Amino acid sequence: MKCSFCKNDAIIYLSYSKNFLCDKHLVRSLEKRVGNNIRKYGMITSKRKIGVGISGGKDSLTLLYVLKELLGDNRKIEIVGITIDEGIKGYRDKSIVNARELCKTLGIKHYIYTFKEYAKEMDEIMKNSRSDPCSYCGVFRRWILNKACKDLSIDVLAIGHNLDDTVQTLQMNIMRNEPLRIARFRPSGGILDDDDFITRIRPLFNIPEREIVAYALYKEIEFHNGECPYAGQALRNPVRNFINEMENNYPGIKFRMLNSYLSMLETIKIPENMKINKCKKCKENTSNELCKRCSFLEELD
Ligand code: SF4
Ligand code: ZN
Repeated sequence: MKCSFCKNDAIIYLSYSKNFLCDKHLVRSLEKRVGNNIRKYGMITSKRKIGVGISGGKDSLTLLYVLKELLGDNRKIEIVGITIDEGIKGYRDKSIVNARELCKTLGIKHYIYTFKEYAKEMDEIMKNSRSDPCSYCGVFRRWILNKACKDLSIDVLAIGHNLDDTVQTLQMNIMRNEPLRIARFRPSGGILDDDDFITRIRPLFNIPEREIVAYALYKEIEFHNGECPYAGQALRNPVRNFINEMENNYPGIKFRMLNSYLSMLETIKIPENMKINKCKKCKENTSNELCKRCSFLEELD
């Protein structure tokens, strides 16, 4: 098949727009959409230090690469990579190598923060626990990323959530009845205006996963493709399968889910009785006496 925009061979078919794209048009289109997201949602203003959360997987490394392509020449902007090592043997130790290598190639500083130092390693936790591993992992990772951003004086934290992650997360938050998380999840920033919250941005939030894979392969970005050994227990798996099946039968449904959410965003408000306290132990923001990280650590002791 030929590209819909030139005479080159196509490498991908986009069923939602009924277009075939060659490698060059895919790259151009993906970078243009990321640039538009950054401008439209005011993700990055001048003189900013941007932390990019990089696991070593395709999404986060592509995000790092694209941000460097789009912003690398701007001297007022500094990009650094931040990796969180959850202590999952055979998985994270391998992906960290890819994160480190890409930072080296792009000339970007790379910082690694560990569960071992600031929480408890996932392999340790799962020796004795039957609870959902991802709940611990997500809470600890968020807390440590926040800490890293403060330590490194980061202004905005860029996360490699793609369209698939975005719609899965929204669907999971609805299924779990998590109104606060539903309200908080947005392309840029949150609804709480507090200096202690690092602004998170998701420049890939509307880019389909398969386009990111095609971009990474074309750019020869070496990413880690393994699966977390604890992922099998996650609610995300059946949700992902369900949404992918829907997309196969009804092309474009992922975009329609995303757009429904974006149009509802303005009306979603933070619950009025919600108060922000400082955690008694670590002084992080929380709506309770102890933040989730500190109460998990007490529970695991
Ligand atoms: Fe952590 Fe769950 Fe992701 Fe594994 S799948 S890295 S346990 S959040
Ligand atoms: Zn705490």
